[in-house]
Amino acid sequence: MNFYQELFAELLQKQFNEIALTKLKRSLALKHQLETIPSNIDILLHAEIKEIPLFKKKLITKPVRTISGVSPVAIMTRPDKCPHGKCTFCPGGLNSPWGDVPQSYTGHEPATMRGMRNNYDSYLQVMNRLEQYVLLGHTFDKIEIIVMGGTFTATDFQLPGGLHDERRIDEIKTELLSFKQRKTTTLEAEQHINETAAVRCVALCIETKPDWGFLEQGNEMLRQGCTRVELGIESVYDDVLKNVHRGHTTADSKKSIQILRDLGFKINFHYMPGLPLTDRERDIQGMKQLFSDPDYRPDMIKFYPTMVAPGTALFHQWKQGQFTPIDTTEAAERLVEIKKIVPEYCRIQRIQRDVPTKYWEAGVGLTNFRQFIHQNYNIQCRCIRCREPKGKNINWANIQIKVTEYDASRGKEFFIAAEDSQTDTLLGFCRLRFPFQYLRPEITPASALIRELHVYGTATAIGDEGLVQHKGWGKRLVEKAEELARQHGKDKIVVIAGVGVRQYYQDKLGYQIEGPYVKKLL
Ligand code: SF4
Ligand SMILES: [Zn+2]
Repeated sequence: MNFYQELFAELLQKQFNEIALTKLKRSLALKHQLETIPSNIDILLHAEIKEIPLFKKKLITKPVRTISGVSPVAIMTRPDKCPHGKCTFCPGGLNSPWGDVPQSYTGHEPATMRGMRNNYDSYLQVMNRLEQYVLLGHTFDKIEIIVMGGTFTATDFQLPGGLHDERRIDEIKTELLSFKQRKTTTLEAEQHINETAAVRCVALCIETKPDWGFLEQGNEMLRQGCTRVELGIESVYDDVLKNVHRGHTTADSKKSIQILRDLGFKINFHYMPGLPLTDRERDIQGMKQLFSDPDYRPDMIKFYPTMVAPGTALFHQWKQGQFTPIDTTEAAERLVEIKKIVPEYCRIQRIQRDVPTKYWEAGVGLTNFRQFIHQNYNIQCRCIRCREPKGKNINWANIQIKVTEYDASRGKEFFIAAEDSQTDTLLGFCRLRFPFQYLRPEITPASALIRELHVYGTATAIGDEGLVQHKGWGKRLVEKAEELARQHGKDKIVVIAGVGVRQYYQDKLGYQIEGPYVKKLL
Protein backbone atom coordinates (compact mmCIF):
# COMPACT_ATOMS: atom_id res chain seq x y z
CA MET A 1 0.00 0.00 0.00
CA ASN A 2 1.22 3.52 -0.73
CA PHE A 3 0.66 6.63 1.39
CA TYR A 4 -2.74 7.38 -0.07
CA GLN A 5 -4.12 3.87 0.07
CA GLU A 6 -3.07 3.50 3.68
CA LEU A 7 -4.53 6.87 4.62
CA PHE A 8 -7.84 6.07 2.95
CA ALA A 9 -8.00 2.73 4.75
CA GLU A 10 -7.49 4.48 8.09
CA LEU A 11 -10.09 7.13 7.28
CA LEU A 12 -12.63 4.45 6.48
CA GLN A 13 -12.07 2.76 9.81
CA LYS A 14 -11.98 5.66 12.25
CA GLN A 15 -13.09 9.21 12.84
CA PHE A 16 -10.20 11.72 13.14
CA ASN A 17 -10.27 15.25 14.49
CA GLU A 18 -7.99 17.84 12.92
CA ILE A 19 -5.02 17.22 15.23
CA ALA A 20 -5.24 13.46 14.96
CA LEU A 21 -5.51 13.73 11.20
CA THR A 22 -2.38 15.88 10.97
CA LYS A 23 -0.52 13.37 13.13
CA LEU A 24 -1.66 10.48 10.98
CA LYS A 25 -0.63 12.23 7.79
CA ARG A 26 2.77 13.07 9.24
CA SER A 27 3.52 9.54 10.39
CA LEU A 28 2.39 8.01 7.08
CA ALA A 29 4.42 10.55 5.08
CA LEU A 30 7.47 9.59 7.14
CA LYS A 31 6.80 5.88 6.68
CA HIS A 32 6.46 6.26 2.91
CA GLN A 33 9.44 8.62 2.67
CA LEU A 34 7.51 11.52 1.18
CA GLU A 35 9.44 14.78 1.18
CA THR A 36 6.36 16.83 1.97
CA ILE A 37 3.01 16.07 3.54
CA PRO A 38 0.42 16.23 0.75
CA SER A 39 -2.36 18.78 1.16
CA ASN A 40 -5.92 17.56 1.66
CA ILE A 41 -6.74 18.58 -1.89
CA ASP A 42 -3.77 16.55 -3.19
CA ILE A 43 -4.98 13.63 -1.17
CA LEU A 44 -8.49 13.91 -2.55
CA LEU A 45 -7.10 13.98 -6.07
CA HIS A 46 -5.80 10.47 -5.40
CA ALA A 47 -9.16 9.06 -4.34
CA GLU A 48 -11.48 7.13 -6.59
CA ILE A 49 -14.22 9.39 -7.94
CA LYS A 50 -17.01 7.60 -6.08
CA GLU A 51 -15.15 7.95 -2.79
CA ILE A 52 -14.32 11.65 -3.05
CA PRO A 53 -17.55 12.93 -1.40
CA LEU A 54 -16.99 10.66 1.59
CA PHE A 55 -13.31 11.53 2.04
CA LYS A 56 -13.97 15.18 1.35
CA LYS A 57 -16.26 15.25 4.39
CA LYS A 58 -13.58 13.65 6.52
CA LEU A 59 -10.69 15.76 5.24
CA ILE A 60 -12.12 19.19 4.63
CA THR A 61 -14.09 20.76 7.43
CA LYS A 62 -13.87 24.40 6.35
CA PRO A 63 -15.34 25.59 3.04
CA VAL A 64 -12.88 25.45 0.13
CA ARG A 65 -12.17 28.62 -1.78
CA THR A 66 -13.03 28.33 -5.44
CA ILE A 67 -9.85 28.52 -7.45
CA SER A 68 -10.10 29.81 -10.98
CA GLY A 69 -7.64 30.24 -13.81
CA VAL A 70 -6.38 27.76 -16.34
CA SER A 71 -6.77 24.27 -14.92
CA PRO A 72 -4.20 21.75 -16.13
CA VAL A 73 -5.41 18.37 -17.37
CA ALA A 74 -2.61 15.90 -18.07
CA ILE A 75 -3.21 12.91 -20.32
CA MET A 76 -0.74 10.05 -20.19
CA THR A 77 0.04 7.98 -23.26
CA ARG A 78 -0.10 4.20 -23.15
CA PRO A 79 3.16 2.34 -22.31
CA ASP A 80 4.95 1.92 -25.62
CA LYS A 81 8.46 1.83 -27.03
CA CYS A 82 10.00 4.92 -28.59
CA PRO A 83 10.83 4.33 -32.27
CA HIS A 84 14.58 4.85 -31.87
CA GLY A 85 14.93 2.45 -28.95
CA LYS A 86 15.61 3.77 -25.49
CA CYS A 87 17.69 6.60 -24.07
CA THR A 88 20.13 5.26 -21.47
CA PHE A 89 18.66 7.40 -18.68
CA CYS A 90 14.98 6.84 -19.41
CA PRO A 91 12.94 5.28 -16.59
CA GLY A 92 9.78 3.27 -17.02
CA GLY A 93 8.37 1.85 -20.25
CA LEU A 94 7.41 -1.73 -20.96
CA ASN A 95 8.87 -4.34 -18.56
CA SER A 96 10.25 -1.69 -16.23
CA PRO A 97 10.98 -2.47 -12.55
CA TRP A 98 7.53 -0.94 -11.93
CA GLY A 99 5.82 -3.08 -14.58
CA ASP A 100 4.44 -1.74 -17.87
CA VAL A 101 4.27 2.00 -17.32
CA PRO A 102 4.44 4.95 -19.74
CA GLN A 103 7.93 5.57 -21.09
CA SER A 104 9.86 8.11 -18.98
CA TYR A 105 7.54 7.76 -15.95
CA THR A 106 7.46 5.43 -12.95
CA GLY A 107 3.76 4.71 -12.65
CA HIS A 108 3.59 6.63 -9.37
CA GLU A 109 2.87 10.12 -10.66
CA PRO A 110 -0.75 11.26 -10.16
CA ALA A 111 -1.21 11.67 -13.92
CA THR A 112 0.17 8.19 -14.60
CA MET A 113 -2.08 6.65 -12.00
CA ARG A 114 -5.07 8.39 -13.54
CA GLY A 115 -3.97 7.08 -16.93
CA MET A 116 -3.82 3.53 -15.60
CA ARG A 117 -7.22 3.77 -13.91
CA ASN A 118 -8.70 4.82 -17.24
CA ASN A 119 -6.86 2.29 -19.35
CA TYR A 120 -5.07 5.24 -21.02
CA ASP A 121 -8.26 6.30 -22.79
CA SER A 122 -7.60 10.00 -23.33
CA TYR A 123 -11.24 10.98 -23.23
CA LEU A 124 -11.82 9.17 -19.94
CA GLN A 125 -8.65 10.65 -18.45
CA VAL A 126 -9.91 14.15 -19.22
CA MET A 127 -13.36 13.37 -17.84
CA ASN A 128 -11.87 11.80 -14.73
CA ARG A 129 -9.84 14.93 -14.07
CA LEU A 130 -12.84 17.20 -14.67
CA GLU A 131 -14.91 15.12 -12.28
CA GLN A 132 -12.23 15.67 -9.67
CA TYR A 133 -12.39 19.41 -10.25
CA VAL A 134 -16.19 19.33 -9.89
CA LEU A 135 -15.97 17.49 -6.60
CA LEU A 136 -13.30 19.79 -5.26
CA GLY A 137 -15.25 22.88 -6.19
CA HIS A 138 -12.69 24.22 -8.66
CA THR A 139 -13.72 26.30 -11.61
CA PHE A 140 -12.55 24.67 -14.80
CA ASP A 141 -13.97 26.77 -17.58
CA LYS A 142 -10.48 27.15 -19.07
CA ILE A 143 -8.32 24.08 -19.29
CA GLU A 144 -4.92 23.25 -20.69
CA ILE A 145 -4.39 19.71 -21.96
CA ILE A 146 -0.89 18.31 -21.58
CA VAL A 147 -0.01 15.10 -23.41
CA MET A 148 2.77 13.23 -21.59
CA GLY A 149 4.87 10.06 -21.86
CA GLY A 150 6.97 8.56 -24.66
CA THR A 151 7.15 10.02 -28.16
CA PHE A 152 3.52 10.89 -28.81
CA THR A 153 4.06 12.14 -32.37
CA ALA A 154 5.40 8.69 -33.29
CA THR A 155 2.24 6.90 -32.11
CA ASP A 156 -1.02 6.74 -34.04
CA PHE A 157 -1.33 10.26 -32.76
CA GLN A 158 -5.05 10.72 -32.24
CA LEU A 159 -6.61 12.87 -29.60
CA PRO A 160 -10.28 12.71 -28.79
CA GLY A 161 -12.45 15.55 -29.98
CA GLY A 162 -13.23 18.69 -28.03
CA LEU A 163 -14.57 19.02 -24.56
CA HIS A 164 -18.06 19.71 -23.45
CA ASP A 165 -19.67 22.20 -21.28
CA GLU A 166 -21.33 20.30 -18.50
CA ARG A 167 -20.30 20.96 -14.93
CA ARG A 168 -22.32 18.52 -12.93
CA ILE A 169 -21.27 14.94 -12.65
CA ASP A 170 -24.44 13.34 -13.99
CA GLU A 171 -24.44 15.76 -16.87
CA ILE A 172 -20.80 15.04 -17.59
CA LYS A 173 -21.63 11.37 -17.68
CA THR A 174 -24.51 11.91 -20.08
CA GLU A 175 -22.24 14.04 -22.22
CA LEU A 176 -19.57 11.37 -22.11
CA LEU A 177 -22.08 8.83 -23.36
CA SER A 178 -23.32 11.12 -26.07
CA PHE A 179 -19.74 11.78 -27.22
CA LYS A 180 -19.08 8.06 -27.34
CA GLN A 181 -22.27 7.63 -29.39
CA ARG A 182 -21.43 10.45 -31.79
CA LYS A 183 -19.48 8.05 -33.95
CA THR A 184 -19.55 10.29 -36.97
CA THR A 185 -18.06 13.32 -35.31
CA THR A 186 -14.81 14.79 -36.60
CA LEU A 187 -12.02 16.50 -34.75
CA GLU A 188 -12.84 19.76 -36.54
CA ALA A 189 -16.52 19.54 -35.55
CA GLU A 190 -15.61 18.91 -31.92
CA GLN A 191 -13.14 21.79 -31.94
CA HIS A 192 -15.86 24.04 -33.30
CA ILE A 193 -18.20 22.98 -30.49
CA ASN A 194 -15.44 23.72 -28.01
CA GLU A 195 -14.85 27.28 -29.24
CA THR A 196 -17.95 28.42 -27.35
CA ALA A 197 -18.32 25.63 -24.78
CA ALA A 198 -18.38 26.38 -21.07
CA VAL A 199 -15.28 24.21 -20.59
CA ARG A 200 -12.82 25.49 -23.17
CA CYS A 201 -9.50 24.00 -24.12
CA VAL A 202 -7.43 27.19 -24.17
CA ALA A 203 -4.08 25.47 -24.67
CA LEU A 204 -2.82 22.08 -25.73
CA CYS A 205 0.70 20.90 -25.17
CA ILE A 206 2.44 17.89 -26.73
CA GLU A 207 5.78 16.40 -25.65
CA THR A 208 8.09 15.05 -28.33
CA LYS A 209 11.72 14.75 -29.40
CA PRO A 210 13.38 16.76 -32.19
CA ASP A 211 13.47 14.03 -34.88
CA TRP A 212 9.71 13.60 -34.34
CA GLY A 213 9.08 17.33 -34.45
CA PHE A 214 9.55 18.26 -38.10
CA LEU A 215 7.05 19.65 -40.62
CA GLU A 216 4.85 16.56 -40.94
CA GLN A 217 4.39 16.24 -37.18
CA GLY A 218 4.14 20.02 -36.80
CA ASN A 219 1.24 20.16 -39.25
CA GLU A 220 -0.51 17.29 -37.53
CA MET A 221 -0.04 18.92 -34.12
CA LEU A 222 -1.58 22.11 -35.52
CA ARG A 223 -4.57 20.13 -36.72
CA GLN A 224 -4.96 18.69 -33.24
CA GLY A 225 -5.15 22.19 -31.77
CA CYS A 226 -1.69 22.10 -30.18
CA THR A 227 -0.20 25.45 -29.13
CA ARG A 228 2.96 24.45 -27.25
CA VAL A 229 5.56 21.77 -27.88
CA GLU A 230 7.78 20.36 -25.15
CA LEU A 231 10.92 19.43 -27.05
CA GLY A 232 13.50 17.09 -25.54
CA ILE A 233 16.74 18.47 -26.95
CA GLU A 234 18.64 17.34 -23.78
CA SER A 235 22.14 18.46 -24.90
CA VAL A 236 23.91 20.77 -27.38
CA TYR A 237 26.70 18.18 -27.88
CA ASP A 238 26.49 15.45 -30.52
CA ASP A 239 28.88 13.09 -28.73
CA VAL A 240 26.68 13.30 -25.62
CA LEU A 241 23.46 12.65 -27.56
CA LYS A 242 25.10 9.65 -29.22
CA ASN A 243 26.45 8.30 -25.94
CA VAL A 244 23.03 8.34 -24.26
CA HIS A 245 21.39 6.77 -27.32
CA ARG A 246 19.16 9.73 -27.82
CA GLY A 247 18.39 8.92 -31.45
CA HIS A 248 18.75 12.49 -32.73
CA THR A 249 21.52 14.98 -33.43
CA THR A 250 21.98 18.65 -32.62
CA ALA A 251 21.24 19.37 -36.30
CA ASP A 252 17.84 17.68 -35.80
CA SER A 253 17.23 19.83 -32.72
CA LYS A 254 17.98 23.04 -34.58
CA LYS A 255 15.88 22.03 -37.58
CA SER A 256 12.92 21.05 -35.40
CA ILE A 257 13.12 24.27 -33.37
CA GLN A 258 13.14 26.36 -36.54
CA ILE A 259 10.21 24.54 -38.15
CA LEU A 260 8.07 24.53 -35.03
CA ARG A 261 8.81 28.21 -34.40
CA ASP A 262 7.98 29.10 -38.00
CA LEU A 263 4.66 27.27 -37.58
CA GLY A 264 3.95 29.52 -34.58
CA PHE A 265 4.38 27.08 -31.69
CA LYS A 266 5.69 28.09 -28.29
CA ILE A 267 8.60 25.80 -27.51
CA ASN A 268 9.63 24.52 -24.13
CA PHE A 269 13.06 22.85 -24.22
CA HIS A 270 14.02 19.99 -21.97
CA TYR A 271 17.73 20.00 -21.13
CA MET A 272 19.72 17.60 -18.95
CA PRO A 273 22.73 18.87 -17.01
CA GLY A 274 25.12 16.16 -15.80
CA LEU A 275 24.83 13.75 -18.74
CA PRO A 276 27.80 11.45 -19.50
CA LEU A 277 30.80 13.09 -21.24
CA THR A 278 30.12 16.44 -19.60
CA ASP A 279 31.91 18.06 -16.70
CA ARG A 280 31.08 21.28 -14.92
CA GLU A 281 32.77 23.54 -17.42
CA ARG A 282 31.35 21.86 -20.50
CA ASP A 283 27.89 21.71 -18.98
CA ILE A 284 27.78 25.40 -18.10
CA GLN A 285 29.18 26.22 -21.53
CA GLY A 286 26.45 24.12 -23.15
CA MET A 287 23.67 25.73 -21.16
CA LYS A 288 25.00 29.20 -21.95
CA GLN A 289 25.00 28.28 -25.64
CA LEU A 290 21.24 27.78 -25.37
CA PHE A 291 20.93 31.54 -25.08
CA SER A 292 23.94 32.80 -27.06
CA ASP A 293 23.26 30.65 -30.13
CA PRO A 294 20.28 31.96 -32.17
CA ASP A 295 19.48 28.41 -33.28
CA TYR A 296 18.33 27.63 -29.74
CA ARG A 297 16.98 30.49 -27.56
CA PRO A 298 14.00 28.76 -25.89
CA ASP A 299 10.74 30.46 -24.92
CA MET A 300 10.69 28.25 -21.86
CA ILE A 301 12.98 25.62 -20.49
CA LYS A 302 12.95 22.70 -18.09
CA PHE A 303 16.32 21.62 -16.72
CA TYR A 304 16.35 18.02 -15.58
CA PRO A 305 19.62 17.13 -13.83
CA THR A 306 20.53 13.57 -14.87
CA MET A 307 19.32 11.03 -12.31
CA VAL A 308 19.89 7.28 -12.20
CA ALA A 309 16.71 5.21 -12.37
CA PRO A 310 16.58 1.46 -11.72
CA GLY A 311 16.41 -0.78 -14.77
CA THR A 312 18.11 1.71 -17.12
CA ALA A 313 21.35 1.34 -19.07
CA LEU A 314 22.68 4.30 -17.11
CA PHE A 315 22.02 2.38 -13.89
CA HIS A 316 24.42 -0.36 -15.03
CA GLN A 317 27.03 2.21 -16.06
CA TRP A 318 26.73 3.74 -12.60
CA LYS A 319 27.01 0.35 -10.88
CA GLN A 320 30.14 -0.43 -12.87
CA GLY A 321 31.68 2.89 -11.96
CA GLN A 322 31.53 4.26 -15.50
CA PHE A 323 29.17 7.10 -14.66
CA THR A 324 28.75 9.39 -11.66
CA PRO A 325 25.66 11.60 -11.51
CA ILE A 326 25.94 15.16 -10.25
CA ASP A 327 24.64 15.59 -6.71
CA THR A 328 22.41 18.33 -5.32
CA THR A 329 25.18 20.87 -4.69
CA GLU A 330 26.90 20.28 -8.02
CA ALA A 331 23.61 20.58 -9.93
CA ALA A 332 22.76 23.73 -8.00
CA GLU A 333 26.13 25.32 -8.74
CA ARG A 334 25.83 24.65 -12.45
CA LEU A 335 22.26 25.95 -12.64
CA VAL A 336 23.05 29.07 -10.66
CA GLU A 337 25.44 30.11 -13.42
CA ILE A 338 22.59 29.87 -15.91
CA LYS A 339 20.04 31.65 -13.76
CA LYS A 340 22.44 34.59 -13.66
CA ILE A 341 22.39 35.01 -17.43
CA VAL A 342 18.94 33.82 -18.49
CA PRO A 343 17.35 36.47 -20.73
CA GLU A 344 14.04 38.14 -19.98
CA TYR A 345 12.20 36.38 -22.82
CA CYS A 346 12.66 32.91 -21.33
CA ARG A 347 10.78 31.21 -18.49
CA ILE A 348 12.57 28.59 -16.43
CA GLN A 349 9.68 26.21 -15.88
CA ARG A 350 11.30 23.54 -13.76
CA ILE A 351 14.75 22.53 -12.61
CA GLN A 352 13.86 18.99 -11.63
CA ARG A 353 11.74 16.05 -12.77
CA ASP A 354 8.34 15.74 -11.09
CA VAL A 355 9.10 12.17 -10.02
CA PRO A 356 9.60 11.72 -6.25
CA THR A 357 13.27 11.22 -5.34
CA LYS A 358 12.62 7.84 -3.73
CA TYR A 359 12.15 6.28 -7.17
CA TRP A 360 15.71 7.19 -8.21
CA GLU A 361 18.89 5.38 -7.22
CA ALA A 362 21.30 8.32 -7.40
CA GLY A 363 21.50 11.99 -8.34
CA VAL A 364 19.94 15.15 -6.98
CA GLY A 365 18.36 14.24 -3.66
CA LEU A 366 15.88 16.97 -2.89
CA THR A 367 12.36 17.28 -4.16
CA ASN A 368 12.27 21.00 -3.33
CA PHE A 369 15.45 21.68 -5.30
CA ARG A 370 14.30 25.10 -6.54
CA GLN A 371 13.78 26.28 -2.97
CA PHE A 372 17.20 24.90 -2.01
CA ILE A 373 18.83 27.01 -4.70
CA HIS A 374 16.97 30.17 -3.80
CA GLN A 375 17.79 29.78 -0.11
CA ASN A 376 21.46 28.95 -0.54
CA TYR A 377 22.56 31.15 -3.40
CA ASN A 378 22.02 34.83 -3.74
CA ILE A 379 20.90 35.12 -7.35
CA GLN A 380 18.77 37.59 -9.20
CA CYS A 381 17.16 35.43 -11.86
CA ARG A 382 15.38 37.61 -14.41
CA CYS A 383 13.48 34.87 -16.18
CA ILE A 384 9.74 35.28 -16.74
CA ARG A 385 8.81 33.07 -13.82
CA CYS A 386 10.91 35.06 -11.36
CA ARG A 387 9.33 38.34 -12.50
CA GLU A 388 5.67 37.26 -12.41
CA PRO A 389 3.34 39.31 -10.17
CA LYS A 390 2.42 36.43 -7.78
CA GLY A 391 0.41 38.39 -5.27
CA LYS A 392 2.54 41.57 -5.58
CA ASN A 393 0.73 44.88 -5.63
CA ILE A 394 0.68 46.28 -9.12
CA ASN A 395 1.09 50.00 -9.53
CA TRP A 396 -1.00 50.59 -12.60
CA ALA A 397 0.48 53.99 -13.26
CA ASN A 398 3.93 52.46 -13.71
CA ILE A 399 3.13 49.87 -16.35
CA GLN A 400 5.02 50.38 -19.57
CA ILE A 401 5.43 48.38 -22.72
CA LYS A 402 9.00 47.34 -23.44
CA VAL A 403 10.12 45.56 -26.61
CA THR A 404 13.15 43.26 -26.75
CA GLU A 405 14.23 42.24 -30.23
CA TYR A 406 16.41 39.19 -30.89
CA ASP A 407 17.29 36.73 -33.64
CA ALA A 408 16.12 33.14 -33.35
CA SER A 409 16.14 30.26 -35.83
CA ARG A 410 17.03 32.68 -38.65
CA GLY A 411 13.88 34.74 -38.06
CA LYS A 412 13.25 37.78 -35.88
CA GLU A 413 11.59 37.71 -32.49
CA PHE A 414 10.03 40.53 -30.52
CA PHE A 415 9.35 40.01 -26.84
CA ILE A 416 6.74 42.64 -26.04
CA ALA A 417 6.43 43.00 -22.28
CA ALA A 418 4.04 45.00 -20.11
CA GLU A 419 6.06 45.65 -16.99
CA ASP A 420 6.41 47.73 -13.89
CA SER A 421 10.10 48.60 -14.01
CA GLN A 422 10.17 50.01 -10.49
CA THR A 423 9.32 46.67 -8.93
CA ASP A 424 10.69 44.65 -11.89
CA THR A 425 7.34 42.92 -12.30
CA LEU A 426 6.02 41.46 -15.50
CA LEU A 427 2.31 41.92 -16.00
CA GLY A 428 2.02 40.23 -19.35
CA PHE A 429 3.78 39.65 -22.63
CA CYS A 430 3.35 38.84 -26.30
CA ARG A 431 5.76 36.96 -28.58
CA LEU A 432 5.85 38.26 -32.14
CA ARG A 433 7.88 36.49 -34.85
CA PHE A 434 8.87 37.28 -38.39
CA PRO A 435 9.40 33.74 -39.65
CA PHE A 436 12.41 32.47 -41.60
CA GLN A 437 10.34 30.10 -43.76
CA TYR A 438 6.71 30.26 -44.87
CA LEU A 439 5.66 26.69 -44.30
CA ARG A 440 1.90 26.87 -44.74
CA PRO A 441 -0.49 28.69 -47.06
CA GLU A 442 -1.79 30.83 -44.18
CA ILE A 443 1.71 32.20 -43.57
CA THR A 444 2.75 34.52 -46.40
CA PRO A 445 6.13 36.30 -46.69
CA ALA A 446 4.42 39.45 -45.40
CA SER A 447 2.99 37.67 -42.34
CA ALA A 448 4.02 38.09 -38.74
CA LEU A 449 3.21 35.42 -36.17
CA ILE A 450 1.93 35.85 -32.65
CA ARG A 451 3.20 32.76 -30.87
CA GLU A 452 2.10 33.63 -27.36
CA LEU A 453 -0.03 36.12 -25.50
CA HIS A 454 -0.12 35.95 -21.75
CA VAL A 455 -1.45 38.32 -19.13
CA TYR A 456 -0.97 37.62 -15.42
CA GLY A 457 -3.00 38.65 -12.49
CA THR A 458 -5.86 37.24 -10.57
CA ALA A 459 -7.07 34.69 -13.01
CA THR A 460 -10.75 34.87 -13.61
CA ALA A 461 -13.62 32.91 -15.08
CA ILE A 462 -14.49 33.75 -18.70
CA GLY A 463 -16.71 36.82 -18.72
CA ASP A 464 -15.95 38.01 -15.18
CA GLU A 465 -15.26 41.72 -15.22
CA GLY A 466 -12.90 43.94 -13.33
CA LEU A 467 -9.97 41.64 -12.76
CA VAL A 468 -6.52 42.02 -14.22
CA GLN A 469 -6.88 39.62 -17.11
CA HIS A 470 -9.72 41.73 -18.39
CA LYS A 471 -8.19 45.13 -17.93
CA GLY A 472 -7.40 45.31 -21.59
CA TRP A 473 -3.70 44.49 -21.39
CA GLY A 474 -4.06 41.53 -23.72
CA LYS A 475 -5.55 43.87 -26.28
CA ARG A 476 -2.85 46.49 -25.80
CA LEU A 477 -0.08 43.94 -26.25
CA VAL A 478 -1.66 42.63 -29.45
CA GLU A 479 -2.04 46.19 -30.73
CA LYS A 480 1.65 46.80 -30.08
CA ALA A 481 2.48 43.62 -32.00
CA GLU A 482 0.30 44.78 -34.89
CA GLU A 483 2.01 48.16 -34.87
CA LEU A 484 5.49 46.60 -34.99
CA ALA A 485 4.42 44.30 -37.81
CA ARG A 486 3.07 47.24 -39.81
CA GLN A 487 6.24 49.25 -39.25
CA HIS A 488 8.22 46.39 -40.76
CA GLY A 489 6.04 46.20 -43.86
CA LYS A 490 3.96 43.20 -42.82
CA ASP A 491 0.33 43.08 -43.91
CA LYS A 492 -0.99 40.13 -41.95
CA ILE A 493 -0.89 38.78 -38.41
CA VAL A 494 -1.29 35.04 -37.90
CA VAL A 495 -1.93 33.83 -34.34
CA ILE A 496 -1.63 30.35 -32.94
CA ALA A 497 -4.47 30.30 -30.46
CA GLY A 498 -5.93 27.45 -28.46
CA VAL A 499 -9.34 26.30 -29.67
CA GLY A 500 -10.94 27.92 -26.62
CA VAL A 501 -9.26 31.29 -27.20
CA ARG A 502 -10.36 31.78 -30.81
CA GLN A 503 -13.58 33.42 -29.71
CA TYR A 504 -11.64 36.05 -27.76
CA TYR A 505 -9.63 37.02 -30.83
CA GLN A 506 -12.75 37.14 -32.99
CA ASP A 507 -15.00 39.06 -30.60
CA LYS A 508 -12.54 41.41 -28.97
CA LEU A 509 -9.79 41.93 -31.52
CA GLY A 510 -11.41 41.56 -34.92
CA TYR A 511 -9.58 38.40 -35.99
CA GLN A 512 -10.93 35.63 -38.20
CA ILE A 513 -10.31 31.91 -38.27
CA GLU A 514 -8.01 30.68 -41.02
CA GLY A 515 -7.05 27.01 -40.94
CA PRO A 516 -5.70 26.19 -37.49
CA TYR A 517 -4.93 29.87 -36.79
CA VAL A 518 -6.74 33.17 -36.35
CA LYS A 519 -5.62 35.99 -38.62
CA LYS A 520 -6.05 39.67 -39.29
CA LEU A 521 -5.09 41.69 -42.34
CA LEU A 522 -3.31 44.88 -41.37
S1 SF4 B 1 12.71 9.68 -26.19
FE1 SF4 B 1 11.99 10.20 -24.12
S2 SF4 B 1 10.50 8.63 -23.63
FE2 SF4 B 1 11.68 7.88 -25.40
S3 SF4 B 1 13.31 6.63 -24.52
FE3 SF4 B 1 14.13 8.70 -24.75
S4 SF4 B 1 13.72 9.76 -22.80
FE4 SF4 B 1 12.49 7.91 -22.86
ZN1 LIG C 1 13.94 32.56 -12.87
